[in-house]
Formats: sequence, C-alpha cells, structure tokens
Amino acid sequence: MAAEYNVYKAFHQRSITDREGFWAEQGQLIDWHKPWTKVLDYSRPPFAKWYVGGETNLCHNAIDRHLDARADQKALVYLSTEVDVEQAYTYRELHAEVNRCAAILQSLGVAKGDRVIIYMPMIPEAAFAMLACARIGAIHSVVFGGFAASSLAARIDDAKPKLVVSSDAGMRAGKAVPYKHLLDEAIRLSSFPPEKVLLVNRGIDKGMAMVAGRDEDYAELRARHMDAKVPVTWLESNEPSYILYTSGTTGKPKGVQRDVGGHAVALTASMKHIYCGAAGQTMFTTSDIGWVVGHSYIVYGPLLAGMTTILYEGTPIRPDPGIWWKIVQDYKPTVMFSSPTAIRVLKKQDPAYLKKYDVSSIKMLFLAGEPLDEPTHRWISDALEIPVVDHYWQTETGWPILTAVPGIEKTPIKFGSPSFPAYGYDLKLLREADASEAGPDEKAVVAIVPPLPPGVMSTVWGDDDRFVRTYFSTFSKKLVYSTFDWGIRDKDGYHFILGRTDDVINVAGHRLGTREIEEAIQAHSNIAEVAVVGVADALKGQMPVAFAVVKDVSKIATPAARAAHEKEVMATVDRQLGAIGRPARVHFVTMLPKTRSGKMLRRTMQALAEGRDPGDLTTIEDPTALEQIRDALAGR
Ligand code: ATP
Ligand code: MG
Repeated sequence: MAAEYNVYKAFHQRSITDREGFWAEQGQLIDWHKPWTKVLDYSRPPFAKWYVGGETNLCHNAIDRHLDARADQKALVYLSTEVDVEQAYTYRELHAEVNRCAAILQSLGVAKGDRVIIYMPMIPEAAFAMLACARIGAIHSVVFGGFAASSLAARIDDAKPKLVVSSDAGMRAGKAVPYKHLLDEAIRLSSFPPEKVLLVNRGIDKGMAMVAGRDEDYAELRARHMDAKVPVTWLESNEPSYILYTSGTTGKPKGVQRDVGGHAVALTASMKHIYCGAAGQTMFTTSDIGWVVGHSYIVYGPLLAGMTTILYEGTPIRPDPGIWWKIVQDYKPTVMFSSPTAIRVLKKQDPAYLKKYDVSSIKMLFLAGEPLDEPTHRWISDALEIPVVDHYWQTETGWPILTAVPGIEKTPIKFGSPSFPAYGYDLKLLREADASEAGPDEKAVVAIVPPLPPGVMSTVWGDDDRFVRTYFSTFSKKLVYSTFDWGIRDKDGYHFILGRTDDVINVAGHRLGTREIEEAIQAHSNIAEVAVVGVADALKGQMPVAFAVVKDVSKIATPAARAAHEKEVMATVDRQLGAIGRPARVHFVTMLPKTRSGKMLRRTMQALAEGRDPGDLTTIEDPTALEQIRDALAGR
C-alpha cells in the first residue's frame, strides 16, 4: 500500500495486532451498567465473544444517555411523501414513545429473550418498536414490508415470535401496499402462529379486519400507557439483540443474529471514524428499516451518536426527482447514505433537479449494497462536489468491511473502489485453489480471518452449525470467513469488488466475472445500466448474455438500428475486455429486474434465459421488468 496513508494504516494495524487494547478503547464510547471482565473471548473458534461480562443496553445508549444534554434536540424526523406527513420527535419525545411502546409490549406478555417480528412500513412506530424491544431485552426481527406471505411465514417459523407488530398498510409510489392482509395469510401458513398481533392503524386499508383475542390496536394501548416508565433491562454483552434475515439473493435466507455490547460499540465507533457524524448533526439514510442499512444507519447508529435521523417514506423520484435534495435543503444533514441503484435512478433524470436545491450541508455521501460503477461514482461526486465514499458490507457484518475511514485519515477516493479494510477486519484476498494470498491485481475471494470484529453476526439464529458450515468452510485448509465475493487489490492498496463468487461464467474454460463484462459494456456511452448472466451452452459451457438499458432509445428505434447497436456494444466489449468476454446477445430493455433493496436479480434472468422456472419472485421491485426479459428472449 502506498506509504502516505500512515495514519489509517497504523489505526488498522493496531486493531488487528492489539485487538483487546483497541476495542477496549472503543468500548469507552458507550455507557456500561457493569464493566466487562474480558474484552474478547475467542476460546471457541470461530465464535467470538466481545466485552464478556459487561452489561449494557442499546436503547439506553441510543436514547436515555442523551437526555441530559439533548432532550430538546430532534432525534427522529419522519417524512412521508406518500401520506404527506412531516413529524419530528425530540429525544425527550422519542424516550416517551419508546417507553409507551415498551409498556405495551410488556402488557402483551413480551419479556426478555422473546422474539418480536416487526413487519411494518417506514413509519415512526417501526423504530419505536425496535427500540422498545431493545429496552426490555426482547429480540426484534424486522421483516421487510415487500415480502410475500410465504416469505413472512418462513421467517415466523424460524424466529417463533411471541408477538408480531404490523400495520394496516404501507404506501409505495402512491399505491397502498397491504400489510395486515398479508400477515393474516402468513400466520395461516405458519406452524408457529404468534399469540398476539399489535397493529398500527394508519387508516389506509379501511377494510382491515381485527381477529378477536389476537389483534390489538396500537393507539388504544398507547393511550393506556401514556405515562409509562419502563426501566431498561441490562443485558450481558453477548446476549442476542436482534435477528435479521439476509436478502436471500443467493438462496434460503439466514437468520443473522447480533449481540448487544459489540453491536453498540461497533456502530458508535463507525459513526465517529467512518461517517464522521457528531452529536447534534443530522444523518439522512435512504434505506428501509427492513434492511441492515436501515437497522444500523437509520435507527441505531445515528441515535447512538446523539444525531438526528431522518426516516423517509417515499421514493427518490416522487413528487419529482428533486425530493431528496429538497429534504437535504430543509433538514441540513451533514452525512447521507444511499445505494448505487438509487443514484443510477437519479442519473437518468434531468440534472436540473440537483441544482435546484442547496445541498451544501452534506459533507459526505456513502453508498453501499451493490457494486458502484465508475461512471456513476464520478457523476454523483461531480454533481455534489463532495467525497462520495463507496463502502462494502453485508447483512452479516452490520457495518462496513471495506471503506475509507475519513474520521481517522482523509485518504483520496478512487472511483469504483470501496478503498481499504475497515479497522477490526483482518481482510485477505485468498486464491480459491489453495487459500494462499493473492498478489496485486489478482482476482481472489474476499475473506476475513477470525475473530470477526464486534458488531458482526454472532451466529445463525438457532443454528451454530449452519454458521460454521455456511461461512467458514470455503477453504479446507484455513478457518476463514468467506464473503462469497470476488475482489482485487491494486498496487496502491485500493480494493475493488468484482461480484459474487457464484456470478462467474465459464466460457470455453475461461472464468469470467459477470461484473467485468458489465463494466466493459458500460463503457459504451449509450448504456445506462446492464446485467450480464451466464447461459448454459452445449458447446462452450456457458455464454454471457446481456440485458441493457439504453439512455437514448431513438438509437434502437428500428430492428435494423437495434441490431447495429447490439454490434456496437459487442465491439466495445471486444476493445475493453477482449473477444472472450463478448456477450452472445445484448438484449435491450427499459428496466432490469431488481429486488426492492435494489439488487439485480441475476439468477432470475439466468433462469429465464435457460428456460427454467425462476422460483420465488416475491422480492421483485417491478414485475413488468421480468416481462421485458421474457419478451426480449422471445425476440418480441
Ligand atoms: P443473501 O446473502 O441472502 O444472498 P445478499 O448477499 O444480497 O443476500 P446483503 O447482505 O444485503 O444480502 O448484501 C451483501 C452483498 O451485497 C455483498 O456480499 C456484495 O455482494 C454486495 N455489496 C454490498 N456493498 C457493496 C459494494 N460497496 N460494492 C460491491 N458489492 C457490494
Ligand atoms: Mg450475502
């Protein structure tokens, strides 16, 4: 690595060579009811226990701790362009709401260690419920609102919740999305139906039916507990705080279990060292509470840091594509967190929307969730004139694995790169064949040598074996955590993620990452977005097939123009990557199938291209995108 990043390097180095000293210092960032006796217990690899014997509470650290200094500061601002509401809660008010909610949970029989599934739209009660669980030591499991009944049922059966907190409906792009209706169906399908269901009635689904003896009304119970004071339940650092199921992009979702103390320390430390968010400032994270980004950086992270957090219900383009920038102008966040997919959506809109508002409050924008292609990285950096930090992480880790650490040293950004390993991560790029370390610019598996740092998953909920089997058995010779992503490190020490280890195409014996081909296609000036999948081929093993969204559709107006354009794109790949990467076909569509969290459904496209059943499609953002893929494949 280039020598000039010495401050970052020393910080990272110490976090690996003196783990206990390093994390003991970070542990001071939060309040402890009882101090820990041992910073790290790694007597049972790969299971790591952090701050052993220490007692703390996430809700105390996120709310109560700030009451002396900032009771009247806004803690949570709820903004909805779906139902036109703007409502702010100060720390004092948030404290009161969370106490009420905690009292409601207790009145419904929820106690320490019980699971509570939160299946809710982006409304403040969702955050209250999470924090109320944390307060009383109940384990929350937020299930993303877009999931279908069967997906929800599978999560109910795995978590076996005592209570489900839900709502009549959500709103998305102006349309009502039923929640209660789906929940009833999920409970019918479930083998472990919850005893109680707590419902926030937003008045969207007027026909919502309550099940007598099971369903309870939030507003009614809240009124009964207006003055409730629920003392926090102190928890041993390693007790579970929440379960969150992975997106399931690659198969059966895994219940990621997180602890209490390590989680609180890791997020608080990340707010300081990575996001540079200080108490009194505002953070705007555009994710959903159903995803890990929402857990860490809409709810817990900013509140642990004493910041104001923005909970936004709405899309980035309604009422118009300037809405985020208007929110920035109105609420002046200093730090913003979003996804490459959302930025690509905005990139397709009129740039005038960005110039219309004063966005000068934002000092840094962080992006994660998907590879950030260089043109998009460059575009948004130029547009905002601030550092845009691509950072790489997983549901499993809860906070960044690869990132710039500007709170420690402001290292230059390289477009398309999530920079360096975050402190605490002993990250290695390992050759698939023998787990030896790869050299500069050599593509290898991104792996982490355990113990995993605080805040990273403790295990798979209820299944220690699956934790070890899934994450630690990629290499027979070495006990390392596999991210299942490919990466490279350049000579300056910057990392690049090249896609998932199962997104590899084998063309006539050559192994090609789909991302490499996508990047090559993106070099063509008329391509806005592209997905490449490997399609089985009798002769070559697999063939790359591309689905591309063009910027200027007039270039593909006629079949002849289309064919010419396809040739041009192929020629671009030949130049960028060589003929070996040239896709067999480039199909033009106006939209690509993605999950609601913005992840490309490559496996679905691949199944369709191979004429197979695409399987569970419930997380898809817009089903018409699939129709386009089918039509394109059929030559329609
Ligand atoms: P599942 O594990 O259930 O299949 P998933 O992996 O899609 O679901 P997440 O944990 O939300 O669920 O996503 C993490 C993955 O997203 C990473 O492993 C990586 O493939 C991708 N990713 C996240 N951030 C970045 C980034 N900055 N650059 C490139 N890829 C990223
Ligand atoms: Mg994953």
